[in-house]
Amino acid sequence: MIYAANLKCNHTRKSFKEYGTKLSSALNGESVLVFPPFCALSEDKFKFTQGVQNFYPCDNGSFTGEIGADMIDEFGITTVLIGHSERRALGESDVLLKAKFDFAKSKNWDIIYCIGEDDITHMNGSTKEFLSEQLENIDLEYENLIIAYEPIWAIGTGKSASVEVISGVLEFMSSKCNAPLLYGGSVNEKNISDISQIPNCDGVLVGTASWDVENFIKLIKA
Ligand code: PEP
Repeated sequence: MIYAANLKCNHTRKSFKEYGTKLSSALNGESVLVFPPFCALSEDKFKFTQGVQNFYPCDNGSFTGEIGADMIDEFGITTVLIGHSERRALGESDVLLKAKFDFAKSKNWDIIYCIGEDDITHMNGSTKEFLSEQLENIDLEYENLIIAYEPIWAIGTGKSASVEVISGVLEFMSSKCNAPLLYGGSVNEKNISDISQIPNCDGVLVGTASWDVENFIKLIKA
């Protein structure tokens, strides 16, 4: 199982140092990825992999407010999130997402590419068509690709998608590619055990339940 923590806009340099130290001392070989805010990235040696929540597809240059590969490389980071619904909601288009994917691929970075439908698409039963379109944007054969299925209606709501819904979507996705598949959307220490047993589920992407390190450790150990 892969346990990925999206800390979003939470944690400072100081609090993430404590977070990383506590999490490291609790880990025992589990596969854990943590995505802190840029300015909280640490140069400490942890037992988990740090990744970035965002980047601009450049090495460096005149892109005010953006972070490029030169800055990411300095931390030795090779894992990136792309396509999170909160970034899409801020205006990241398919064109930009493709540019980010292609750039990350050219760097040989590990990519967690997020896809997921909104509640209207879910209710009208067109999830698979919608996800297929989102996947057309990327190279599904890329060897360092992980795909995270994150229904928007389950993110941050405290209501995870049901085991049946997740199973159906992951089965569909596994018919389209060989990439490891994650589920994300209100995963917590109570539902992780059921979710982890879903066929084709290689791990989880966790938001809210990862922000408190003790909570995240409980989830991993559950
Ligand atoms: C996320 O935003 O990637 C996420 C899964 O959030 P949450 O766990 O809070 O639903």
